[in-house]
Amino acid sequence: EISLKQRLNSGSPLFSIEFFPPKTDASADQLLRTAEALKAYAPDFASITYGAGGSTRSRTLKYARHLREDYGYAVMPHLTCVGHSRDELRGIIEEFRDAGLGQIMALRGDPPKGESNFKPHPDGLHYANELVSLIHASYPECTVGVAGYPEVHPEAPSADIDLLNLKRKVDCGAHFVTTQLFFDNNKYFDFVERAREAQINIPILPGLMCVSSREQALRFCDMCGTSMPAELEQQLSAAGEDSAAVEAVGTNWVFNQARELLERGAPGIHLYILNRKGPAVELMEKLKLAGFYQA
Ligand code: FAD
Repeated sequence: EISLKQRLNSGSPLFSIEFFPPKTDASADQLLRTAEALKAYAPDFASITYGAGGSTRSRTLKYARHLREDYGYAVMPHLTCVGHSRDELRGIIEEFRDAGLGQIMALRGDPPKGESNFKPHPDGLHYANELVSLIHASYPECTVGVAGYPEVHPEAPSADIDLLNLKRKVDCGAHFVTTQLFFDNNKYFDFVERAREAQINIPILPGLMCVSSREQALRFCDMCGTSMPAELEQQLSAAGEDSAAVEAVGTNWVFNQARELLERGAPGIHLYILNRKGPAVELMEKLKLAGFYQA
C-alpha cells in the first residue's frame, strides 16, 4: 500500500473528501450512503473532523474505523487541542495509531461558542504546531496535515504573521497543508506564491466546497473569513429558492475552480462535502469526464 506521504509527492493529482461525524442515526445513514457512493471514485483519503471541546472523540474514531474497515478508505482523522491535556492527546493519538489510521490532521481548534479567545487546557497545547510535535513524538510514522488560510486566519494580526505561524507547523514536521475553503482561486495562487517565498515547500492542497444554499455559504464565509466573489453571489441570487438551480450553480463553480487549480499545478483537491452525496458525486463525475483522473 502506497503511503499518503509518497502519494503526495507522486506528481499526479490527489483527491480527498471531508466528512463530519454524525450525531443521529438518520445523519449516520447519510454519511454511510455518501461513503458508499464515493467509493467508486477511489479518493486518496477521507478525512473526518473533530468537534468542539473533544465531544466527538469517540464518534470521530468510530466513523474513522467504519470508513476504513467497511468501505476501504484511507482515513485521516482530525484532532484539535481544545479541552485536552497533553496526556489525553497522546492517548487519542495512540488510539488512532492502533486503529491503523496512518495520517492525522493536526489543529488547534476554535474557542467554545460564545468565547472569543482560545484558552488552552491547563496542561494542554496553545497552538497547532505543538500538536504536530506531539504527534511526531508519539507516532513517528504518521503523516501529518495542517490547516492553511489563503485569506488569513481571523485571529491573526496580519497575513505575514499568519504565514510565519504556518511555517512553524512546517518546521515542526507537517507533511502537507489543506487550505480553508475559498471561492476565488486567485486567493489560493497568491497564498502559494507567498508560502513558497517563506520557504514553505510542502504540498498545499486546496479545500473547496460545493455550495448548496446561499445563506449557508454566506455563513461559512463569515465564519472563516472567506470572500464571496460578486459573480458567485449573483448566480446564487438568480437561482433564488430553486434548490436544484442553486446546487447546479454550486457544482459548476467548484468544477471550474478545480479545473483551473489542477491545470495550474495544484497537487489535488480536498472537498468539503458536508456528508452530502449528490453534489460530491456530480463533481467527481465531471472531473472524471474532463480527464483529471481515472478511477
Ligand atoms: P493554529 O495554526 O494554531 O493557528 C491559530 C492562530 O494562532 C492563527 O491566528 C495563527 O496565526 C496563530 N498562531 C499559530 N501558531 C502560533 C504560535 N506558535 N505563536 C503565536 N501565534 C500562533 N476545527 C475543528 O474544531 N475541528 C476540525 O476537525 C477542523 N478541521 C479543519 C480542517 C481544515 C483544513 C481547516 C482549514 C480548519 C479546520 N478547523 C477545524 C478549524 C480550525 O480549528 C480553526 O480555524 C482554528 O481557529 C485554528 O486552528 P489551526 O490549527 O489553524 O490553529
